[in-house]
Amino acid sequence: MYRSLVFLMGLLGLLAACGTSPSPPSPSSALKVVTTVSPITSIVESIGGNRVALEGIVPEGVNSHTFSPSPSVARVLAEADLIVLNGLFLEEPSLELAQTNKKAETVILALGDQTIDSDEWKFDFSFPSSQGRPNPHLWPNPMLALRYAELVQEQLTALDPSNAEYYAANLEAFRMRIEELDRGIAASVATVPVQHRKLLTYHDSWAYFADRYGMEVVGAVQPSGFSQPSSREVARLIDQIRDLGLPAVFGSEVFPSDVLEQIAKESGAIFIDGLRDDDLPGSLGEPRHSYLGLMLANMETMIAALGGNTSALAYFDVGPVFEGASNAVYPQ
Ligand SMILES: [Zn+2]
Repeated sequence: MYRSLVFLMGLLGLLAACGTSPSPPSPSSALKVVTTVSPITSIVESIGGNRVALEGIVPEGVNSHTFSPSPSVARVLAEADLIVLNGLFLEEPSLELAQTNKKAETVILALGDQTIDSDEWKFDFSFPSSQGRPNPHLWPNPMLALRYAELVQEQLTALDPSNAEYYAANLEAFRMRIEELDRGIAASVATVPVQHRKLLTYHDSWAYFADRYGMEVVGAVQPSGFSQPSSREVARLIDQIRDLGLPAVFGSEVFPSDVLEQIAKESGAIFIDGLRDDDLPGSLGEPRHSYLGLMLANMETMIAALGGNTSALAYFDVGPVFEGASNAVYPQ
């Protein structure tokens, strides 16, 4: 009797300790899910909530296209029950490390490859068809991000049916947010003068977004291979901006922007730094440090610079769709 009382007290103490911790550890039985870039980690977190043990491997602010994981990541991948990547050739070194280190039964879910067929691949400025690798940035199109979430929900449910209802409820909550975001973006784009619904960016990550909202990507500064553009290419871009009368050109959080700054200065456009494709805004634990926060921040930056407004998104909630504290690991 006494022994079981001591055990019970110990258990209560443990529970109390968990309750005061800002990031409660997942139960040890929780599915171990490993992801790559932060927007994908956030989408997986929206569905898995705090019932999966989730860890991203690509630190924010690094070039995800050339990121090569350190050998220590092999251990994280070896313990994973599910590995979720964008695919479409975005994370080749991470995929290779996953394939050689994962448990035999661990599923690798490449979201982009399952979201569009090869006849829907987009080739463009930084991702020319001559290289055979499509533009992999599907997630800036919220409807494709929703498809990612659906694939994650299907996979989590298959691997962990005891939490099926929880994952399904989170997907429905996420779907409602995405639909609201989609309507808000469409309404915001509609406030931009038609002739200004054009994007010239440093990093070429808006192809699938533009397609959804009737915008046109007229150029991207970054050549394939992520080197600096040639001076001839810079001169051509300056002419193009002048010819089209573009009000703004956009830099990226992750890539250096001195060339774009020069292009803006010589073409008369304003230079807007800070579009993001995989570096979430805010800091860890803030609601806007999320996929939804990423898209809202991008819209506030992009739409205002092109002469429109985002009042349709003024009350958009970018916080988590699930109850309770996050336990996801986002490497910084
Ligand atoms: Zn990118």
